[in-house]
Amino acid sequence: PTFDGLGLLPELLRAVKDAGYTTPTPIQTQAIPIILAGHDVMGGAQTGTGKTAGFTLPLLQRLAPYATSSPSPARHPVRALILAPTRELAMQVHESVVTYSKHLPLRSVCIYGGVDIKPQIAQLREGREIVVATPGRLLDHVQQKSVSFNSVEVLVLDEADRMLDMGFMPDIKRILAMLPTARQSLLFSATFSGEIKKLADTMLKSPQLIEV
Ligand code: AMP
Repeated sequence: PTFDGLGLLPELLRAVKDAGYTTPTPIQTQAIPIILAGHDVMGGAQTGTGKTAGFTLPLLQRLAPYATSSPSPARHPVRALILAPTRELAMQVHESVVTYSKHLPLRSVCIYGGVDIKPQIAQLREGREIVVATPGRLLDHVQQKSVSFNSVEVLVLDEADRMLDMGFMPDIKRILAMLPTARQSLLFSATFSGEIKKLADTMLKSPQLIEV
């Protein structure tokens, strides 16, 4: 398999090439066409399988047609929300978003706790289409009214099992309740416990199952 046959935009293929990737990983071959088709996804994948590019590339493609380099923050509402359990993972995922979006006029921000909230607020005010966040700090921003979810079209829950292990279920439920119901949702988890399946039932619509 090659990246060329997956239906990705030239801007994304260029970014993939710049990253030095020649062949998509199995989860990328499976996930990219399904996510591009607009389906919800329940993905079973460990780290190291290439799952981040597997969801980030089609997510960026979904946002790309309306991407604008307009300097007006009002033109950059949050359209994609990616939740991760830890600051380290959020930073890694954000790094991937930056890498793969380099040829597109999309802006992103990484939101996590343990640091001053003000620079994050300033970035959100400027307008960011893509927010990669840990749940707790994201809810701090909700409380401060520095973020709005009205325009969210895509939600990704990465390492959902770790999020539940870390006690983020109540936070996730609060965030889910604030999101538009008309959206695409992707849930990735290394394991599928009963609790994960219950979460999947509440947040996914007719999900396609991907396992590698
Ligand atoms: P992940 O499983 O998303 O954490 O990715 C694991 C590592 O594989 C990351 O360092 C990626 O940069 C790298 N990677 C992702 N996709 C590919 C690919 N198709 N070919 C080579 N390396 C890749």
